[in-house]
Amino acid sequence: MAEDNQVHHGSCYCGAVTVTVEGPPAAAAYCHCQECRKWHSAPINAWSIWPDAKVTIDGPVITSDVSERSRRISCAKCGGCVANLKPAVNMTVVYPMTLAGPDATYSFEPQFHIFYNERVMDVSDGLPKFVDMPKPFGGSGNTADEPQRTGWH
Ligand SMILES: [Zn+2]
Ligand SMILES: [Zn+2]
Repeated sequence: MAEDNQVHHGSCYCGAVTVTVEGPPAAAAYCHCQECRKWHSAPINAWSIWPDAKVTIDGPVITSDVSERSRRISCAKCGGCVANLKPAVNMTVVYPMTLAGPDATYSFEPQFHIFYNERVMDVSDGLPKFVDMPKPFGGSGNTADEPQRTGWH
């Protein structure tokens, strides 16, 4: 894990939008929900979340409000996904791949999966697979069985 006050720098696909986060995330995990799948156009989304005060986003952005829970921020030039604001809890999701360097190094290990019941892909990695959300996040806390293999569900 990262040092407590370490600042991590990231950017969108084209570099016009930069993001910095301070310290380790409050949580890091994978999301299988349909909203994430549609927005990222990917079967699974890796995410990490910080208190709003620990996140700085600079550059031209557009905001996509599909639900009240999420204000999804992307670069106005390249469209790259950068962040997802959670106004109800004053937290900001910043995507690990936004923060990862060119060598794809990323120091925050995902801890669990969420919305696993919406998955299009099974992941056999030994991490807890919450069918919706962990209890501290307002979910049922129920988990799915570990799948036999990683691949399309
Ligand atoms: Zn960009
Ligand atoms: Zn999601």
